Order: sequence, then structure tokens, then C-alpha cells
Amino acid sequence: MAIVNNRLTEEQYEQNFGDIHPPFVNRDAAQVEASRCLYCYDAPCTKSCPTTIDIPKFIRQITTDNLKGSAHTILSANILGGGCSKVCPVEKLCEGSCVYHLLGEPPIPIAKLQRFSTEKAIAEKWPLFRRKPAKNKKVAVVGAGPAGLSCAHALSREGVEVTIYEKESKGGGLMTYGVAAYKVSPQFCEEEVDFITSLGGITIRYNTELGKTVSLHELQQQYDAVYLGVGVGLTRQLGVPGEELTGVEEAIRFIYDIRTKGYPSVPVGDKVAVIGLGMTAIDAATQAKRLGASEVTILYRRTQEEMPCTEAELNQAKLDGCRIIWLAAPHEIRGVDGQVTELMGRRMQLGEPDASGRQTPVETGETFSLDVDMVIKATGQLPFEELINQCQLENRNGRVTTNHGCATNLRGVFAGGDCVNGGKEVVDAVQAGKDGAQAILSFLQIL
Ligand code: SF4
Repeated sequence: MAIVNNRLTEEQYEQNFGDIHPPFVNRDAAQVEASRCLYCYDAPCTKSCPTTIDIPKFIRQITTDNLKGSAHTILSANILGGGCSKVCPVEKLCEGSCVYHLLGEPPIPIAKLQRFSTEKAIAEKWPLFRRKPAKNKKVAVVGAGPAGLSCAHALSREGVEVTIYEKESKGGGLMTYGVAAYKVSPQFCEEEVDFITSLGGITIRYNTELGKTVSLHELQQQYDAVYLGVGVGLTRQLGVPGEELTGVEEAIRFIYDIRTKGYPSVPVGDKVAVIGLGMTAIDAATQAKRLGASEVTILYRRTQEEMPCTEAELNQAKLDGCRIIWLAAPHEIRGVDGQVTELMGRRMQLGEPDASGRQTPVETGETFSLDVDMVIKATGQLPFEELINQCQLENRNGRVTTNHGCATNLRGVFAGGDCVNGGKEVVDAVQAGKDGAQAILSFLQIL
């Protein structure tokens, strides 16, 4: 079979892309779970949250029915705490360090409780924050993703006027365009951006792209400071013959289309191979299955020990019926009449450790072949090196270089998030935005 769209009925799409982690059914259910919390001194859950949300405090506020206080506790540390409650890999962050693991019992469902508090705050736009008096300072933020939004909100709270320049037609960045729809819906992302801007003092100029419709030089001239939160975006290529065939897709583009065009409009193969095993690979594989592919096979060149996705994400892929071939790498994509028909792979084994101590996969000489009509590349994203060089920003292979105060080599220009660290979790980008705002406030002598 070839790549086609509209494989399922409307009901099947709704079912396959519905909320994967249903919320608490009511307040009592949330309070029962919240009341299990031991309110640990020096709480390890808070220590393992990159934005250091005071988790025992917000959980205690839920038990006393102080939902507004609870939402304030979360959102004052992480303004995207609503979205993070849906997409954070909590099993390796807060929930993973809950002391209940030591007791051999299930951890407190921190993400579900966080969602319980924040969802209502966002839906009803609770006015939890007030702006300080205007400081007569203007800052441009490039990118309305998690880093940019977090930075903008922190600056605006201090009375700074912020204009965000965003190349897409919606805000939210990776949350809006790069995550599986069954984790967080596009509608929720829109509501979260509206909630953030409802503070006031933040204007978003959509469809405005740095380096195309606006230059960094212009922003430097017009604003007292500039924050760059442009993320990463270019898919790493496989570098194998046949990559240009119809049916070879980039995972980021595939996920973007699912989120922007509607499920029936996105073509999917019947037999799909996904290359890579990060979060994006899992999101692409599971969604290919949920769009109606009959077989999805994930190729990963290392073993389960080294996989970049979490155990929970791997289990999700398995639950959705995806097959994983460990220690396997593509070496050629073959096709007929320009359309993919076969993926040739090579068996790998782990060799000597590299400089980072990670064992390097090496070919065993054994090959295999898969009948496929679609190949999805999910081998990581690269920085926007050309743009960064065009802006004359110091960088390492496209990653913007900053000092500890988030400052770049250009005076008054700050940067943070994926464009600096090369790509981490949403919650790391939120913290980077907060750090960037602090650095800008010091630079503007507001703090
Ligand atoms: Fe509560 Fe677990 Fe955090 Fe302790 S570690 S404060 S029990 S959520």
C-alpha cells in the first residue's frame, strides 16, 4: 500500500488522539492523592524540577481547597506549568525522585495534581499576577516558544514592555507544533499562550521571522535589549542513498502537520519505519500508528540502556503496537517510481567509548531489509547555524555562546533555551527564559 490520508473514521481519530492522561474526575479524587504527600523537608521532588516549583506547598494548598494559591505557587515558578504537567518526563524528574519510591509505593502523581490546579486557572484566566509600574523600557523577544514566553512574562511582571517576534501563526513553539496531539491539544496550547499574555504588556507579532522579515540589527536599534529564544529546528539528515524519495519524511514536519492540518489530512504509510528513539521519534511512531499505519518499526543504533527516550515513552510505543529493532541503523532507502518501498538496515554492536564515555555503535557486517512505504527521520535537530552566523553571534556549531548571565557577544543581546543548549526539555527552556529575564533586568538596572 502507498502513503494515503483519511485511513480512519472521525470517531477513530477522536479516540486515538484523545487525552492520554485523563485528569482527576473531581476534587475529592485529587485531594485523596494530595493527602498522601509527606511534605518532605528539602523535598527531592522540588530539587529535581528545573524550575524548582515548591511542590509540597502546592500539594498542601490542594488539600486545603486553595486552588488559586496552588496555581499561583506553580505558575510563579513556571508560567508554562500547565503545559509542563502534560509533557514533562516526570518519571525522570519530580515523580522519579518522590520518596515513595523508597517505600516501594507509587509516587505522588505530581503532574496530575499540577494539571488539576493549572487547567482551571488557564481556562478561566485567573488574574494571579499583577504588573509592577511601567519602567519605560522595551525588550524584544524572538520566539514565542517556552523560553521566549517565560522570559516575556517575567519581564512584563517587572513593568517592562515586551514585543515577541514569532515566525509561526501561533505561539507555544515546540508545545504547539512539536508534541504528540494526545499529550497536549493545540487548543490547550492556544489557551496557555492567551493566559500568559493576559497579564498585559506583552504583544506578539506573528508571522515575523528573524533574518527574513526583521533583522537583529533593527531590533537592537528599536529596543533596550533583545532576548533570543529561537530554538532549534533543522532535522539531522541520515546521509544514506534514497533519502530524497517520496515517503521519506522528517518527524518534526510530520508532527507539525498532524497538529496544524487535522488528522485525516495527514498522509501516512501502511508500513512505516522510524529512525531514532528520542521523544520526537516516539511521538512520530505512535502517531503514525494512531493515524492508521498497520506496522510501525523503530530502528535504534544502540541498546535500551542508552536510549534517549524515557521508559514510559518506550512503553507507550510498545502499547501502541510499535516494534523496536535495537542495534540497527539504516544504510539505504530503496524505491520504485520515486516512492519508498524498502529500507536496508545494518546490524550494529557497541564498540569503544567516545570522549563522553558513550560506547560508539559499529557495524557488524550483517544486513536486513524491511518492506516499508514511509520512512520517518527522527535523529535529532540541529541549530539554525546560518541564521546565527548571519546575526554575527558567537556560536559553537550553531549553538549560541553565552556567558553565565545569558549574555551573547553582542551588547544588549541575550539568549537561552534550545538555541543555546542544543535541545532539552520544555521545562528547561522555561527556566532559561526566567534566567534570561533576570539577566536583562540587571542589564537594564531594574533589579
Ligand atoms: Fe510529597 Fe513525594 Fe515531594 Fe515528598 S517527594 S514532598 S512525598 S511529592
